[in-house]
Amino acid sequence: MNAPHREPGFRDSVNMMFNHAVRLMDLTPGLEEKIRVCNSTYTVRFGVRLRGTIHTFTGYRSVHSEHMEPVKGGIRFAMGVNQDEVEALAALMTFKCALVEVPFGGSKGGLRIDPREWDEHEMELITRRFAYELAKRDLIHPSQNVPAPDMGTGEREMAWIVDQYRRMNTTDINASACVTGKPLNAGGIAGRVEATGRGVQYAIQEFFRHPEDLKAAGLEGDLEGKRVVIQGLGNVGYHAAKFLSEEDGCKIVGVIERDGAILDPNGIPIEFLRSHVQASGGVKDFPRGTYVEDGQSLLEHDCDILIPAALESVINLTNAERIKAPLIVEAANGPITAGADDILRSRGKVIIPDLYVNAGGVTVSYFEWVKNLSHIRFGRMQRRQEEAQNQMLVKEIDRILSVSGAEHGLSKAFKEQFVRGAGELELVRSGLDDTMRTAYQSMREVWHSRKGVEDLRTAAYIVSIGRVAGSYRSKGL
Ligand code: GLU
Repeated sequence: MNAPHREPGFRDSVNMMFNHAVRLMDLTPGLEEKIRVCNSTYTVRFGVRLRGTIHTFTGYRSVHSEHMEPVKGGIRFAMGVNQDEVEALAALMTFKCALVEVPFGGSKGGLRIDPREWDEHEMELITRRFAYELAKRDLIHPSQNVPAPDMGTGEREMAWIVDQYRRMNTTDINASACVTGKPLNAGGIAGRVEATGRGVQYAIQEFFRHPEDLKAAGLEGDLEGKRVVIQGLGNVGYHAAKFLSEEDGCKIVGVIERDGAILDPNGIPIEFLRSHVQASGGVKDFPRGTYVEDGQSLLEHDCDILIPAALESVINLTNAERIKAPLIVEAANGPITAGADDILRSRGKVIIPDLYVNAGGVTVSYFEWVKNLSHIRFGRMQRRQEEAQNQMLVKEIDRILSVSGAEHGLSKAFKEQFVRGAGELELVRSGLDDTMRTAYQSMREVWHSRKGVEDLRTAAYIVSIGRVAGSYRSKGL
């Protein structure tokens, strides 16, 4: 990529990354164009009567690629939503799904709204009306287009959307598969809320399993004690920070939020900070560490791993030269602009790209959609049978140990852990872990073996574009 002098928009930035990858591939020009362009974007302006007057809202649902259906991608509620952003995010969904072998095309939706300005009842009216507008055009549909949570939306909004769809399609037996990220009692799946953050953890764990890749970033050893700066303590950032610190021994030395940042070289207790943010609306006045008013400046702080987990374009031409972290893990979509990507790469930084890192959300969404279509919870049939088998084995080992006069039998803790059959949560985690490992391996193989590929992002695009191209070719295009 040639670094532009001026920052391109988000969609142009994604296109530049795409173009960089296809230059190293052997695609026919027509097919290349077909894969790059966004198929359609629907814009809707609708009015809702609230507080005595009619308020008009603008929403989008963009479909990037229908090489596989349904198409998939979240719905974002934020003031910054615009067509360029939704189209860039829809393109990322296409490549993300292809990379992790989730059989969906790419889509994304957005509503220009500040959810903090409206109460719960008002949000419900607005969300239902938006869902109605999309569902009547099949832009919400179990076999055509399946939304999910994104920035500013969560289980609550998904529950309203599925209910709205059901009211409009009273005889559709697969209605609950029209959207994912639903609460458990509305057809959701265990582990979906934490899925994107869990995927970020699995992505980093997999990277650390490859000493050669660690070396490329100038790092060594395991995750224990690694210093992490994270931007955004929303659903993704919070779960990633929590799992990395509580389970892998990382030290979260910096957290950047809307109103500033907290810096603590001894490690920030994430649960404590999260409760503080939820109670007070920000990180200011947090009793531990140091408060930094210019939160963004912490992106440039000295650390081992930098995890932008909030907005797009936060690492750009204005700060790329000053980023110190040797490893940047893109938990957000598009946090690094194309120009910044060039600069960071020439400075020897290793970037684990968004289309891989945050694919945990859509991966578990896929499991939820499959669960909804099969109308049965994962593990329901096998769990007790598995336990009975394991129990038999444990009993037999104990019997052999005792007749052979061994001093000790199997420990109680081991038996308990071994005997337990996998429930839905264990199966979801296992499926997600396997997906993240496999996808990383397919990327790194291209990174290390293909001529001209210098970074993981280009490798990720090459893997994804190759798969999308394969599926178009098999359709005869
Ligand atoms: N909004 C999430 C993303 O950007 C999840 C999408 C989905 O689950 O469909 O990947």
